[in-house]
Amino acid sequence: MDGTEALERLMAGNSRYASGSPEGPNRTTERRDEVATDQNPFAVVLTCSDSRVVPELIFDAGIGDLFVIKTAGNVADDVVIGSIEFAIDRLGTRLIMVLGHTSCGAVGAALEGGVHPGNTGTVVHAIAPSVAAVIGSENVYADAIVENVRRMVERITGSGPIIPPRVQNEEVTVVGALYDMASGVVEPVQPRQ
Ligand SMILES: [Zn+2]
Repeated sequence: MDGTEALERLMAGNSRYASGSPEGPNRTTERRDEVATDQNPFAVVLTCSDSRVVPELIFDAGIGDLFVIKTAGNVADDVVIGSIEFAIDRLGTRLIMVLGHTSCGAVGAALEGGVHPGNTGTVVHAIAPSVAAVIGSENVYADAIVENVRRMVERITGSGPIIPPRVQNEEVTVVGALYDMASGVVEPVQPRQ
């Protein structure tokens, strides 16, 4: 499945979920058996560790469908990018989605500034440039969430020897999106012009 088809499949699943008519596909014991020794996920979803953001539910998908990576603030560090490379290189996945969400506590913490204990500081530090980029805007919190998605998309698109050439020859697609916690709707985040 190419990136365009994969994105269509994600968005169709989100429409079912958001409208309250999910099908819950690929969650049977038969499906479990089918993918017990091999996987071929149609999309990578990098999203926030937030307990309310559950990709298999949000995109009405099932076992073996999504290669999900969760970090606070959907931050893409080297381990995350290595995980994405694994999916592209070994599992043949062609779509990567960075999914931010409304009411993101990690972006909120970066917005507060100040000193954060332990490695929460590492998370905040990774998000801080997205906050700095939108300071002075009318809705800094919402804009920082979107800016953080764009930055992570750009970081993934430009990192390492595996992803950039495949994005360039259109073998792999990297997109940003925003999940609205209240409505359940996923909207695309347009790339920077
Ligand atoms: Zn979050």
